[in-house]
Parts: sequence; C-alpha cells; structure tokens
Amino acid sequence: MTTELSSRTPEQRLSATAAVWAGLDDGFTVGPQPLPELAPGEVLVRVEMATVCGSDLHTLAGDRPTPLPTVLGHEAVGVVEATGGTPRLSDGTPLLPGRRVTWTIGTSCGACRPCSRGASQKCVHVRKYGHEEFSGRWRLNGGLATHCHLAEGTGVVAVPDELPAEVAAPVNCATATVVCAARRAGLAAGDTVVVTGCGMLGLTAVAYARDQGARHVLACDVDPARRAAAVRFGATASCAPEELPEAARRFGADVVLELSGSGSAVQTALDIVGLDGSVALVGSVSPGPEVRIEPNAFVRNLSSVVGCHNYRVDDLAEAVAFVARTPHRELLAGLVSRPFALEDIDGAVAAAREGTWPRVAVRMT
Ligand SMILES: [Zn+2]
Ligand SMILES: [Zn+2]
Repeated sequence: MTTELSSRTPEQRLSATAAVWAGLDDGFTVGPQPLPELAPGEVLVRVEMATVCGSDLHTLAGDRPTPLPTVLGHEAVGVVEATGGTPRLSDGTPLLPGRRVTWTIGTSCGACRPCSRGASQKCVHVRKYGHEEFSGRWRLNGGLATHCHLAEGTGVVAVPDELPAEVAAPVNCATATVVCAARRAGLAAGDTVVVTGCGMLGLTAVAYARDQGARHVLACDVDPARRAAAVRFGATASCAPEELPEAARRFGADVVLELSGSGSAVQTALDIVGLDGSVALVGSVSPGPEVRIEPNAFVRNLSSVVGCHNYRVDDLAEAVAFVARTPHRELLAGLVSRPFALEDIDGAVAAAREGTWPRVAVRMT
C-alpha cells in the first residue's frame, strides 16, 4: 500500500533528481529519475539538505571501493513524502507524511547476532546509504538527490522543525558517531575528557562532553585555529600533540576520544589514559601503523579501549536531542558551508576537497 504523494504536480510526482556518480572517469550526472513504488515498511523522503562527509571524499578519490554507479551522500535531513504500509519512528510512534526526519546510515534486521547483541550497525544484512549500487528497485539510496528511498529496517528519527538544516544534516553521521563513542567509552558527568582531532567530529565531541557534564575537556590538534575553535565549543584547555602527555598529567584523562586517526595520536591516547579510564578509537577508518601496549601497565591502570564505528538508532535519537538542546547550535551551523545546488555537485565536491569548511552543504529545495 502506498500513501498518495502529497501536493505535487503530476510531472513532479513522476520524478526525482539525483546526482549519480559513475566513477573516477565518468563523474557525476545530475538528472531525472523515476520515483519508486513503496513496499511495506519503506519510506520516501524529500531531501532538504545533504552534507558531504569525509567518507564521500574517500570514495570520490578512489580510496574506498564502492559499487557503481551510485548515489553518494548519507548525511541528510528531509521531510517524509510517502510511506509504504505503516512504518514507525524510532520512538514507536507512527511515521506519517509531513514529518521532518533523519535516518540511520544503514539498515538493520533486528534479528541477527550483531543486532541481538546491541551492535545493530554491524547487522549482517546491513545496506548503507551512499554506499550501494544504483540499480534495480532501490536506486534513490543516497543523500545527493531530491528524494531518498528508505529501505525497511532503517531507523528513522524525528527532527524538530525549527532546527536549521545545516545543524540537522550532519547529525546522522558526525554527531551520532560521537554519541556512540561517548556511550561506548562510558563518558560520565565529572569526567576529564581528552579529545584528539578537532575537525567536525572533534568539535562536536567537545560540545557533547560538556553537555554530558564533563568537568574538564582537553582538546588537542596540530592546528592552532582548530584548537581555538575547540575552546569556543567548550573545551576548558587546549594543546598541541607534543604538549598532550604533560597536559593529561595535569588535568587527567578519564576518557580519551581519538578522532584524528593519526597513528601517533592513537599511541598517545593509549599512553595517557588515566586510572580506570577508557580510550575510544574512532578516527582510524583505514589501516594504520601498529601501536604498543605494555600489558602490565595496562592491567594495573584498569584501562579499557573500545573501537567505535557508526552507531545505533538510539545514538541517533540522542544526537538529534543533543543538537536541539545545545547552546552551541550556531557554532555547529558555522561548520557547514553555504549551500550548493544539486546541479552544482562538482562545485560542492571541489569546495569539500578544499577543506575550508568541515562540511559542505547541498540544498535540494
Ligand atoms: Zn541484523
Ligand atoms: Zn559520514
């Protein structure tokens, strides 16, 4: 059963516009695509804005294999246009057309071993937005299109209407990953938190740690401008990487959130973690150098290390709640560029590669 598409002309009902990427040589083609017939449990979202994530850039650089052609983009916010059957939001309430939403980066079946053990982002049947082939009946499966076809098993979270799209779009990757890392590291009120790497995730992590009642947040980055930004986001101290061991001795390091992916930062994180502390490794998303652990010191220090990749739907719900309550909403919006039109996807990607903004926005409407 398909809910009738709302308030659009017959021509608009027939088509979406998607930026389809055919690989390094052939690049993007922006053009019309038919809208899908929805099966039960599926949702059609009219995308309002998508942001270009670092992992999209990895794919576009040829560093990450992806089936082709594909619709890239997974950080997005939009409005439900139609539903198949009677899907529900993550809080169990009915998901109806007109609701502003974001959604999990991948699907989960809810029944396999990872799903039943609380690691639904590693569902054995996972299908990930912005990572799948543009083919068959599931074609609009990325954020860089006017519409996104949500498959059954996607966690959908309501987004407050008043939240700026620039703040809402990155939530389903950057913010939710930070929330997941904080949960897995056991970050609690009163902790001293060290954040290494102050890009999009790091600045979000600084603000989230303070939101969670961290007593001190020590931000570390090679770039003085990023360190200054971290202080604006609520860091109580900042330092360069070579100063971090001394700063951690001074302030403590109950939780270390390693977001840079730098091999030396990973080693330092393991070396500085305080008594009964934990290290969350998040930034190491491609193979890096091996690191040293001296087991006896690790044992006596009661240290923990957790790896964090993607997140669960409850992390996404908490991420939306966080950006809705944080006093740093304008600072978060300032991390996102002026919006590019979908037709100018090449310009958006060029701006993202330039790196002036942690995120570059593509506005569909
Ligand atoms: Zn599963
Ligand atoms: Zn991402």
